[in-house]
Amino acid sequence: MRRLTDGSRPVIPHGSPAQANLEHEVLMLLGHRGETTAHGWKPGDDPFGISWLTPYLDALDIGVKQTALPDVLGALMPTYRPGGEPHGLWGLRAEVSADGVQLRRLGLPGVVRIPGIRRAQWWRAAAAYLETRCDSHEMQLLWRTHPHRMHPEEESFAHKYGAGYTTDARFREVPPLTSALLRRHMIFRHPSIAAVDLWRNWERIELEWADGPDHTTVIEALLDAELGASGAVSARCRCASGDDCFAIELTMQAAPNAVLRLRRCRYGWAEVREQFSDEARAKRYAALRRYTGCGPEFLVTATAPR
Ligand SMILES: [Zn+2]
Repeated sequence: MRRLTDGSRPVIPHGSPAQANLEHEVLMLLGHRGETTAHGWKPGDDPFGISWLTPYLDALDIGVKQTALPDVLGALMPTYRPGGEPHGLWGLRAEVSADGVQLRRLGLPGVVRIPGIRRAQWWRAAAAYLETRCDSHEMQLLWRTHPHRMHPEEESFAHKYGAGYTTDARFREVPPLTSALLRRHMIFRHPSIAAVDLWRNWERIELEWADGPDHTTVIEALLDAELGASGAVSARCRCASGDDCFAIELTMQAAPNAVLRLRRCRYGWAEVREQFSDEARAKRYAALRRYTGCGPEFLVTATAPR
């Protein structure tokens, strides 16, 4: 992670409350098990599909490789199948310009930018994502069908559970913690981490990694004096002693009522991932090649509401 700084900006800045809300939602979707591994992710690859990031008070720039873009787009951009629940980040819409992609939620401040992604690359990624979905013909891409206002179902979920849309105080406690974690995601680029999974249990964020570094290593990086966040842990790591050492709780000063539960799993998901990743990578490249030159009109016919 130290390589990410140039020395002139020693501290990774906090996001503003609105920006932290957006980043919380983004990490919860990208970090959820398997969401960003379909392109053939391997241990040591980009954590959560993100190659690099530059954090600002009111914005976050992220780098996403072409092969990972369909996963990232698929995890974040909201979709809906009649009779089901809207998936993805409710209210999120993409603006694609010559500079890249800007992701914002309707009516809320905060932005995640993916610089360097051209229009054609964005549409290719969308087409390649749809190809992996066997049910895509019934799926409405809400970011296409409702560009300026939310679908009623999407709006209903956003106002109940979307950080920033809901006024429920319980949704304000966790985002500063998740945002700080996303801004330090490179801790999880590690050749012996077989998988990372992240989910929410009210005020607790459960973060589990399989194999790889012990708690001490992860905690030292998260609380690093220069690049880390201020915080404290509930217990000392006993991984090295061979004792049972599974979960350690970490609290950050920026989010005193939230808890990050660091779970180290030593059962090795590596074999499963290794087995499929080469094949998955080849498939993803083939899909992207197939959709070279496709544009928005392809998606309209592929996902027309019925
Ligand atoms: Zn430990």
